[in-house]
Amino acid sequence: MEHLKIKYLLPVFLLLFTSSLFSTDKTKIAILDRPNITSTNSNYIQNRSPLLTQNFIKLPVGSVKPQGWLLRYLELQKEGLTGQLGEISAWLEKENNAWLGTGTDYGWEEVPYWLKGYGNIAYILDDKKMIEETKTWIEAALKSQRDDGYYGPYIEKNGKPDVWGNMIMNWCLQSYYEYSNDNRVIDLMTNYFKWQLNLPDDMFLKDYWENSRGGDNLLSVYWLYNITGDKFLLDLAEKTHKNTANWRQRSTLPNWHNVNIAQSFREPATYYMMSKDSTDLLATYNVHHLIRNTFGQVPGGMFGADENARMGYIDPRQGTETCGFVEQMASDELLLLMTGDPFWAEHCENVAFNSYPAAVMPDFKSLRYITSPNHVVSDSKNHHPGIDNRGPFLAMNPFSSRCCQHNHTQGWPYFTEHLILATPDNGVAAVMYGACSATVKVANGGTVEIVEETNYPFEETITFTINPSKTVRFPFCTSSN
Ligand SMILES: [Zn+2]
Repeated sequence: MEHLKIKYLLPVFLLLFTSSLFSTDKTKIAILDRPNITSTNSNYIQNRSPLLTQNFIKLPVGSVKPQGWLLRYLELQKEGLTGQLGEISAWLEKENNAWLGTGTDYGWEEVPYWLKGYGNIAYILDDKKMIEETKTWIEAALKSQRDDGYYGPYIEKNGKPDVWGNMIMNWCLQSYYEYSNDNRVIDLMTNYFKWQLNLPDDMFLKDYWENSRGGDNLLSVYWLYNITGDKFLLDLAEKTHKNTANWRQRSTLPNWHNVNIAQSFREPATYYMMSKDSTDLLATYNVHHLIRNTFGQVPGGMFGADENARMGYIDPRQGTETCGFVEQMASDELLLLMTGDPFWAEHCENVAFNSYPAAVMPDFKSLRYITSPNHVVSDSKNHHPGIDNRGPFLAMNPFSSRCCQHNHTQGWPYFTEHLILATPDNGVAAVMYGACSATVKVANGGTVEIVEETNYPFEETITFTINPSKTVRFPFCTSSN
């Protein structure tokens, strides 16, 4: 079997380069701004017309296998807080749990927050016990669909349905589908989105959280449309955008909650994939910089917002929720796929390597609610008004909040999934770095195994070994800033 090694020290290349491998021609290297998006990948599901072509395509979960410290970190999550949370979290109790259909409690965001990271770690590590546990919750969701299409616990606020919890469970179901190809997911989401389309506008996305975070619903609508091509989903995408908070404002935001900003600033760029209006794309870049101009004069890629960014509280003693760290990483990864801009890869690494690890114990058995760049005390006192809001928010104690103890799970598995990507021209891309291996389908039905050896970011040498199943020619893209 032929194989080829590429070895380089960072920084070497300014932006992206491609090389064509395993042909009788000489390998060609070119520095590009973005991947070639004039063609369509024939191996993986990607944006379908009329949506704009993605610059990079995520492989199905489980395709990228972590190595080195990243593998150890996922194992620590499994052995620590993520894997054992069911034993200590009230919201994951199976008795009387609305997500399992065994009762009416715990029916909001906590179960799917936890499951979307827990399940993906299960698939990535191919851990049988964790996969079985994941299926317990997924099966219950699949069996919960009503005749009108709604599924999961029905939560009403001010006489209107609150679909925020379902937005998260949709992402769990999408990952499960990538892992299993279980078509019940497609049927369930199709019927559920028909229910959403039938909902009057004044009943849709009106509660605070779902209104801020409609961009997550929009991504799931695209995801299903890319598989089925059902045209009604384009109408629902428009309806979702129309009823989501306006993150396109030039000099202010719909609200200043740190997680909402880290998660929702990408909604205009997501809508841009359908609107093709460049002002939508620019709005996302604008919000990213707007919040950091005042609150982001700190290392680690985030902004000092505690729970809510407040004028007068802008120095490095202000912090970010752990939810904010992992949602920012997810946003950066999604924006990398949409735009191909290496800026988002670098920003994700900045948060992943500098901010998120400080929010958890080294053994991954505990976490904080709020972590600051200048974190001078880690006690369990209430530090309001210096820290917003009121509570023991600087303590290394998962019980000091409901959300982060569940939502932290997604950070490292999602990061792992984005280390090796496909390109529209049937190639492979590695634009964020970490030790891993991946099996990828490339041009003309060929398959290649990519092995990435590195101790990055602790050392800057990265070696790619490429083992093809047969002689094959394909672009390989990587980046360095
Ligand atoms: Zn949180």
